Amino acid sequence: MHAAARPEFAIRDLLHGRRDAAVGTRAHDLIRELYPICRSLTGEGVRESLKLVQKVIPLDIHEVASGTRAFDWVVPKEWNIRDAYIKNARGERVVDFRHSNLHVTGYSVPVRARMSLGELRPRLYSLPAKPDVVPLRTSYFREDWGFSIAHRDLEKLPEGEYEVCIDSTLTEGSLTYGECFLPGETTDEVLVSTHICHPSLCNDNLSGVALATELARALGDCRRRYSYRFLFIPAQIGSIVWLSRNERNVGRIKHGLVLVAVGDSGDPSYKRSRRGNAEIDRAAVHVLRQQGFEGRVREFFPHGNDERQFCSPGFNLPVGSFMRTPCGTFPEYHTSADNLDFVRPAALADSFDQCIGIFEILEHNRRYLNLNPKCEPQLGKRGLYRLTGDVHGGGKVKEMPMLWVLNLSDGDHSLLDIAERSELAFGDVLAAAHALEQCGLLKEIE
Ligand code: ZN
Repeated sequence: MHAAARPEFAIRDLLHGRRDAAVGTRAHDLIRELYPICRSLTGEGVRESLKLVQKVIPLDIHEVASGTRAFDWVVPKEWNIRDAYIKNARGERVVDFRHSNLHVTGYSVPVRARMSLGELRPRLYSLPAKPDVVPLRTSYFREDWGFSIAHRDLEKLPEGEYEVCIDSTLTEGSLTYGECFLPGETTDEVLVSTHICHPSLCNDNLSGVALATELARALGDCRRRYSYRFLFIPAQIGSIVWLSRNERNVGRIKHGLVLVAVGDSGDPSYKRSRRGNAEIDRAAVHVLRQQGFEGRVREFFPHGNDERQFCSPGFNLPVGSFMRTPCGTFPEYHTSADNLDFVRPAALADSFDQCIGIFEILEHNRRYLNLNPKCEPQLGKRGLYRLTGDVHGGGKVKEMPMLWVLNLSDGDHSLLDIAERSELAFGDVLAAAHALEQCGLLKEIE
């Protein structure tokens, strides 16, 4: 049997002319498809969502039984919901789950009752400061029930008797997560993780789900030095469960990114790993700095998304977080205003490019040795000047990157070291290294 044909292009080619122009639109279309589904930490909504992702990329869907221990945590009961409403005395739905799944507190226990507005009122959650939006609310670890409602609508509710129904189940079941593994030339891995537990909210975090899906689709067609592992998990408990089941293999994870809030029109941003200066941190910072976004780099802090677990001291994995506007800092965050209009195809496409730019560095960051280190080699007689226009550009391979690569390729400096010190784009440094290697002036160090 023949081995599968070697894909003809590299991950970096996705940045250089081969990137599918439809990537942003396709990501937005997937968000639109996922948007109406009621997801939570567990349940059919998560399964249904993962099955839609599975239509695009090869995804293994795992089930972990309720009650399974994971370090200091236990997999919770499975929650499912069919319907929920509050009806007024005339039998009209004044709050309706069918209109928005945000109306029900996530993990609400089943309820059927009649009560006065006074009795119901403590169960109604609104944001007086943002009177037009329905806020997200969950009660994962305490059995409870409630409704979210726009404050403006809450204030309009007249006194009287209301009928309350939450047609949900909270039973022994399982926690569901998805995993897409793309093997590379080495078993060393790049981990990409995104959370899938939010109901109808787009930037946090259907944008992450859609971007991870498009990245996995694109990387699936490329030659890969690293193996890539994409996780689609419920936030926190999902990464805790995954780490507890995969502890013996986490040493393979050499670099990692948590993707969250990647579809809004803010500038890209990056939160460093706990290590602070891991290769993933340096790669991401280099990509942002090259575009003038160094002010969008944040230090690690032990709060936020699944990096909290990946960067817990017992693992301390080199996992940073790529975002646009960070969670909690945009007014639409965790409300019904984080909707299909808030995420943009162009922003999703740009997030795709930023991530590929980071992967390009990881894939190609090697050390080389200058084989002609005593004074500069003559580039002209090797035809390298013919490739160049002037010192800073014009031609395909630029002169300044060649001079930097020759000067710093003493065995101690990687191409990323050179790009950082020269403040040149990694892609230019890489192109220079390849040109110098081809004419025998440079040798890769294993
Ligand atoms: Zn969130």
